[in-house]
Amino acid sequence: MHLNTTRTTRTLSAAVLAGLLAVGSIGATGTGAFAVGEGPNPGNGSTQTSILHTYESMVAELKAQAAKQPAMELEVIGQTVKGRDIHLVKYISNPAHPTILYLTQQHGNEQLTTEGALAFIRSLGTASTKGILDKVNILVVPMLNADGAMGDVDFPLTDYVADGGRHLTRYNAVGTDLNRDHVAKAQPETRALHENVLSKYPIQYMIDLHHQGTQSEIDGNLVSGSILYPTSPSVDPAVVERSKQLGSVVYGAISSKGWGNLGKYVGGSEDRIGRNGAAAQYGISTLLFEMRGMSDHYIDSYALGQKSNGYLIQQTVLTLTSTARAVGDGSVATADTSFWDTLPEQTSRPGEEAGE
Ligand SMILES: [Zn+2]
Repeated sequence: MHLNTTRTTRTLSAAVLAGLLAVGSIGATGTGAFAVGEGPNPGNGSTQTSILHTYESMVAELKAQAAKQPAMELEVIGQTVKGRDIHLVKYISNPAHPTILYLTQQHGNEQLTTEGALAFIRSLGTASTKGILDKVNILVVPMLNADGAMGDVDFPLTDYVADGGRHLTRYNAVGTDLNRDHVAKAQPETRALHENVLSKYPIQYMIDLHHQGTQSEIDGNLVSGSILYPTSPSVDPAVVERSKQLGSVVYGAISSKGWGNLGKYVGGSEDRIGRNGAAAQYGISTLLFEMRGMSDHYIDSYALGQKSNGYLIQQTVLTLTSTARAVGDGSVATADTSFWDTLPEQTSRPGEEAGE
C-alpha cells in the first residue's frame, strides 16, 4: 500500500507522535510519520474483535455506570430479533433543556462508535465534562444492532476477515439493513428506536454514528471520517440548516486534530435512511458521521486493524463531547455553516463500498 509521505500539511503533535511510536504503527507500516495527516494509518495490524466490548460486557458497563452516576438512567426500550435488550442511556437534567441523541451500531460491524460512546458515558461521571449536564439532556442508544454485533445471525459469516473468536455483521439477525428500515420499521430494533426514543422525547439533534471502509479520500489524503446532513427533499430547510450547524461543531472539533481529516459523505436522499427519516418524521436535525474502517467485513479492505482504534474512539468522544457542549450552551445555533460549501465530497480508492 502506497502513501504519499511528502505531504506535511498537518501538524503532528508530540503527544500523538509519541502515542504512535508507542504502538509501533509508524515503524511497522513504513508509511512514515506524515501519513498521520491522512488520518489513521491503513497499516492496520490485525483486526481483533476480542478487544471490543461484547454485548454482555457493554451492558455490564452500562449498569455499573448507572449505579455510579446519579444523573444517569438506564432504560430498556425493546429487544432485538434474538431477544437481547436494547438500552437507552438517559441524562435528563431538566425537560426544558435541549436534547441530543447519539445512536451507534445500527450496523453491527461498526463498533468503535460504541466504544467511543461508552468512553463518553464514562466521562460524564467525571470532572472532565463538568457543567455539560447542567444545560443539555443527553440520550444514547448504543449498539442498536446487538445481534449483528455479536454475529448471532441466521446467515453464514464464513468469509468475514476478523480474528478474535467473534464476527460482526452489518445486518440484523434476519439479514435486514436497519438503516434502510426507518420508514417501514419492520424490525424490532428499528421499532424500539422509533416508538420509545424518537417519537417519545423532544429531541432537537441526533448524530447517527457509523463506519465506512478504509479507502475514502479527499484531495488525495485518506480521511478519518465523513459527515453529511439530511438530504431528503421532505425535510424542512430549517431542520437542514440546524443539521449543518451541528456538522460545523463536529468539523471544528475534529479537523483541528492532527489525525482529523473529514470529507463530505455522498449519501442517498431516501427517508428510509435514519439521517433522513428522523429529520423528515420528527423534525430532528441529524448528522451522519462515518468513521474510517470497520471492525469486521467479508471484504478485506473494509476492515481496519486495531492500531487505528485509539484515534477513532477519540474521534467519537470528541464528537459527542463537543456537540453536547455546543447544544447546551447554545453556540450550535451560531455555528458557521459556510464550510459545507467547500468541504470536498470524498471519493474512493478502488475497492471502496457505498452505503451509510
Ligand atoms: Zn453503517
